[in-house]
Parts: sequence; C-alpha cells; structure tokens
Amino acid sequence: MQQINQIYINGQFVTPHGDELFDLFNPTTAEPFGQVRLADEQDALEAIRAAKQAFPEFSHTTKATRIDYLKRMHAAVVSVETELTEAIIKEYGAPTTRAVWMARHAANVFLEMAQVLQDYEFTQSIGIAEVTLQPLGVAGLITPWNSNAGFICGKLAAALAAGCTAVIKPSEMSALQTSIVTRALHQAGLPAGVFNIVTGRGETVGAVLSTHPDIAKVSFTGSTAVGKHILRAGAETLKRITLELGGKSPVLILDDADFNTAIPIALQAGFMNSGQACIAGTRILVPEHRLAEVEALVIKEAATIRAGAPQDPNTRVGPMVSLKQWQRVQRYIQFGLEEGAHLLVGGPGLPDGIEAGWFVKPTVFSRVTNQMTIAREEIFGPVLSIITYKDEAEALAIANDTPYGLQAYILTSNAPKAHMLAARIDAGRVLINTLAHEPRAPFGGFKQSGIGREYGSFGLQAFLEPKSVLA
Ligand code: NAD
Repeated sequence: MQQINQIYINGQFVTPHGDELFDLFNPTTAEPFGQVRLADEQDALEAIRAAKQAFPEFSHTTKATRIDYLKRMHAAVVSVETELTEAIIKEYGAPTTRAVWMARHAANVFLEMAQVLQDYEFTQSIGIAEVTLQPLGVAGLITPWNSNAGFICGKLAAALAAGCTAVIKPSEMSALQTSIVTRALHQAGLPAGVFNIVTGRGETVGAVLSTHPDIAKVSFTGSTAVGKHILRAGAETLKRITLELGGKSPVLILDDADFNTAIPIALQAGFMNSGQACIAGTRILVPEHRLAEVEALVIKEAATIRAGAPQDPNTRVGPMVSLKQWQRVQRYIQFGLEEGAHLLVGGPGLPDGIEAGWFVKPTVFSRVTNQMTIAREEIFGPVLSIITYKDEAEALAIANDTPYGLQAYILTSNAPKAHMLAARIDAGRVLINTLAHEPRAPFGGFKQSGIGREYGSFGLQAFLEPKSVLA
C-alpha cells in the first residue's frame, strides 16, 4: 500500500497536523492501493501564512524572473510526465491516450502562460492616468478529480505569472498525482512560500481558503453546487472569485452536415474523458425527420466504442473515478428509463465481460425531451441524450434552454450559418466541426457554468486588479 503522508508548506515537505487517513482506490479494480494523510484547518492556516509572507517580495519580481520560474516549472513537470501518466491511469482510470494528453497538458500550461506573460503589458496610459495591473495577493486554488494535475498547474501558472502567491487545495481523491506534481514543482526551486500544496477535505481546508481574510482570490474548478457555496462563503471578505463549474453542452447537428462524420464526432465529444468532462457534449440535437438515420449511425458507431481497462490501447471509455460516481451514473440511467427515454445503446450495470471496477456501459438515449432529468442535469458519466428539433430556431432554443453555458458544438457544412448560430448560443466556447483546444483563448462558462475565464491573457487578468495613478 502506498502511503502519502506529507504536504508542502513554505518550500518544505511536512507532516500534516491533520491525522485523518483517506483511502485511495484504483477504479479499474475497485481495490484500494494507498492512503493519504489529510491536512486540516491548522495546516491550511500555516500554508496561508507562508504564502502571505512570500507575497510582498514575489509580487515585485520582474516579468523576466517569473517567466524563468514558469519555464523551470514546465521542465520539472516534463521530467515526471511518464510517472504522472501512470498515476493518472492508476488513480483516475483515464484511458492511456487521454492520460498521456493530461500529463503533457499539466506541463504545457506553464510554457503557454510564460508566452502570455511575455506579451502582456502590465501598465498603460489612459488619459492622464497611468493604469497598472497589480497582483491581487494570496490565491486559493481548488481543483477537482477529473483533471487534478492539469488544474493544479494551470491555475498555479496564471497566479504566479500575475505575481500572486498561492495555496493549492487539490482534490483529496487525486493525492498520487498531487504528490508527483508537488515533488516536481519543488525541484523547480522557487522561493519558499510562493506556492503551498495542502491536500485535505473541501469542508475543512477548502472552507478555510474560501473564508480567510488573507486569501484575496479563489479560483475553483468543480461542481456548480460547491461553486455557489464558495461564492457565498467568499462574500464576507469580498474575495475575487473565478468559478469553472458544470455543463450540459449541446451538440447541434445541422441537416446539411455529413452525418457519417458528424455522428462519430458527436459521440467522441460526449464520451470524452470517459464522460467525466465538464465540456462533454451530452445533448445531441438532430433534425426530427432524420432521427431513424441518426439512430442507425449511432448504434453502428457506438459498437466501436469500447469500455474497459484504461491500459488497453483500444479502450475509449475508462471506469468512473469512484463507487459514488458509478452509483450516480447508474441512477441517471434509471431516470432515463423511468422518464420514458428510448434506450438506444448501453444501459444499466457493468459492460459485458467486465466483472470488477467502476465501469459503465457507454449509453445513448434517444427520443429524449429537453425537460427530462437526463437532459437537464450534469451526469458526469458516459450517458448521452439525442433530442430532436423541427427547425434551426428550435435547435437554438433547445441548446440555450439549460442552466449551464460552458461549451457548445456545431456540426455543419455551412460555415456562415455555423457562425451565425455560434453568435446566438449562450456558451463560453463554441466548437464548429472540431474538438480542438486553443490554450490562448479564454475558457469558462456563461450562466451557472461559472464566473470568469481561465487561460491566456484573460486567465492572467483574473489574478490582477487595476490601479489608476493620476498626476
Ligand atoms: P466538487 O465540487 O465535488 O469538488 C471540487 C473541489 O472542491 C474538491 O477539491 C473538493 O474537495 C472541493 N470542495 C468540496 N466542498 C468544498 C467546500 N465546501 N469548500 C471548498 N472546497 C470544497 O467537484 P468534483 O466532483 O471534484 O469534480 C466534478 C465537477 O467539476 C463536475 O461538476 C464538473 O463539471 C466540474 N468541472 C468543471 C470544469 C470547468 O472547467 N468548468 C472542469 C472540470 C470539472
């Protein structure tokens, strides 16, 4: 059994004051493989103290110094890429190709932010004012389990580029990834206290970060429910808050699309990251008069999508991260059946031939209405809904009829029409005939998918406050 029993405060690995042991599971086998000793409130306070002490000097470092730090952090994470990939597979169950991408992404975000910083002007003249963008202070960074290493590195890169210092509270379920990233980042040799990493529970360490007066900024990625809680908790001290929350992204397949390519893209968008993706395209909107054709193509394509061991290169959908998550997804499949959706592919229980682990059958419901529970709530598993529309106006109305607004997909052969629709969809990002990622473009949600943006210069600005000096 692996034991992870240190946190990182003020440039040192220390034993937490907290003494709760939390089991770490391999979702592929459902067996525990280790334990992490969790930090508590006192550890969080120590970490905030260290970050506060480091802030005055760090906030006045030059751009060149911070670019150098970011490059060193990039190199440090690159050096553990293989180990990190293995940890992501073991602890999270991501299929190998996805895990490789995730580990590389965790390193790349430092380099991408170094480039943004290089080009960023912190001072500008406006009339008689000199306007300077100043780092906010100590940032609390809270990450989810579905991309823990990527969010630790992405949020930290932006905070440090801005000149903030940080206390990171990673997901308690991702302690193995966190320990590898922490060891690597320590090797980068930044000044003590500039970043601190305290793995603990949300209700303890997370709660301290969202209420403590010395935390100026919280950047949170996770569920909408916890995001709202953090916003309320931070209101007392008027924290600046970035929230990256859930989604229920529509995939608009227009009548003019080539369905032979559109359907595979739609299923890829829906089943990405084993369905445990905030940006997953979970509502597939198709022309009503083409439903039979769509259903036949979905059945054919879904037969090629294999759920199974993440180490198997043919696997497209890995296990759910936890038993709780598995049960949650099963519950939603049940809702779909009870509310009268037509089960096209998959269904309840384990995939055929699998006897252990938290695997779900990649599932597609058809003839779903946008009012059904499976179309309204974020499931966070490989369960997709096909919803029909009569015309494009109705497609647009259905796409926007959701409390969320993180991402949308448009599949069509008519580019001008796609751009016209993109302008009318309430989502932070719209992908037209692509599943690409643009790391320099802002990322974040409309409506209840969040507040603020990450990545690129927008992500950097989220850790800055403008100051006007008039003379
Ligand atoms: P979660 O909200 O349960 O937990 C996220 C983090 O918040 C964890 O570190 C957790 O310990 C912490 N937390 C829990 N309670 C807290 C509290 N009271 N105060 C402070 N922190 C607290 O989310 P999860 O289950 O880890 O991740 C899945 C969710 O994340 C999904 O809803 C998904 O859509 C969302 N997500 C969003 C994005 C995005 O960029 N928009 C990306 C990935 C995941």
